[in-house]
Amino acid sequence: MSDTNAKITEEIRAKARELLSSGEIAAFLGFTSGSLPMTTRPFVAKRPGDADKLIWNSFCVMNLANYLPALLESLEPPRGPKDPPPAGPLPKVGVVATGCCSRNIVVQMQERQVDRSRLVILGVSSRGMVDRKKVMAAAEGREPLKVEEGGHTLKVSGRDYELEIDRWSAVRDNCLTCAHNNPVISDYLIGPVSNRDVKDRFAQIEAIEAMPANARWKWFTDEIASCIRCYACRNACPLCYCPTCFVDDSRPQWVGKSTEPADTALFHILRAFHCAGRCTDCGACESACPMGIKMRLFTRKLSKDAFNLFGAEAGLDPQAQPPLATYRPDDPEEFLIVEEKK
Ligand code: SF4
Ligand code: SF4
Ligand code: SF4
Repeated sequence: MSDTNAKITEEIRAKARELLSSGEIAAFLGFTSGSLPMTTRPFVAKRPGDADKLIWNSFCVMNLANYLPALLESLEPPRGPKDPPPAGPLPKVGVVATGCCSRNIVVQMQERQVDRSRLVILGVSSRGMVDRKKVMAAAEGREPLKVEEGGHTLKVSGRDYELEIDRWSAVRDNCLTCAHNNPVISDYLIGPVSNRDVKDRFAQIEAIEAMPANARWKWFTDEIASCIRCYACRNACPLCYCPTCFVDDSRPQWVGKSTEPADTALFHILRAFHCAGRCTDCGACESACPMGIKMRLFTRKLSKDAFNLFGAEAGLDPQAQPPLATYRPDDPEEFLIVEEKK
């Protein structure tokens, strides 16, 4: 573990222990080690001693905001659907949040999914999280059994091999183009603040937009061709909290449930539009995909459009309305009204 990550881990543990011991929070949501190298998993600490299991490293890629609404609800007293909301203050939850995770918490606040007064946010600046698929590619098919993180390197070892790679070469694509790696809201800041500057943040999208329409459609259909409709991408996303997703509905059935190309395309197109103007480019969807599909680029395109058309970026201001939930008389509308060609 790098010195920076070791220090951040210790600070997270100490603050979680303190908040749990004092009774200020009833639970703390962070990360603990996964069962395989380069994996971590969300972890809920409920006793001060549990804080020792919390960790911080470059593989903390799941978006913890995804687990907040259910965790908060689980701490409320049980009540029936017609019972009034409980009186008095409800138990609080502590949570670790990077820039994108904190932006997703803001989106959840805007959409009334979480109550800010019930959160204690430990903000951590992201120095760019590592994509385990890029590390696997560098290992050229050999199984990594151990990955040690240094300041700027990753030491990968397996049966009969050792490899040292530049950490930055394995950073996730979304982190490479992230303009908000510092938390936008927090109660405590843990670790150093990032001063990383990003240029060409939409370069990946501009390259796809520059393709002729046929080539673009081919790129899209090729990208999703291996999708097995497991919905890991949707399940990892903090924006996808609908009690019944449109893909699971059967009355009416909005989209076929097979892996037939038209059904798969419809799933991806509709899900991307449901995230329009709300996606923070956290990359949790892409990290969760077992097939290596870059579906994050679909929502990234819509984030670019929301930025260019409405000057809106998701999750920066708790008081702001999401761009598609509001209206200004001077909103651009060329894409709504197309003049008929004579
Ligand atoms: S894909 Fe759409 S309907 Fe399904 S959970 Fe996400 S936002 Fe809801
Ligand atoms: S669509 Fe993907 S990148 Fe966007 S918020 Fe959801 S999980 Fe994160
Ligand atoms: S996680 Fe990957 S394979 Fe599963 S539904 Fe999403 S894109 Fe398809």
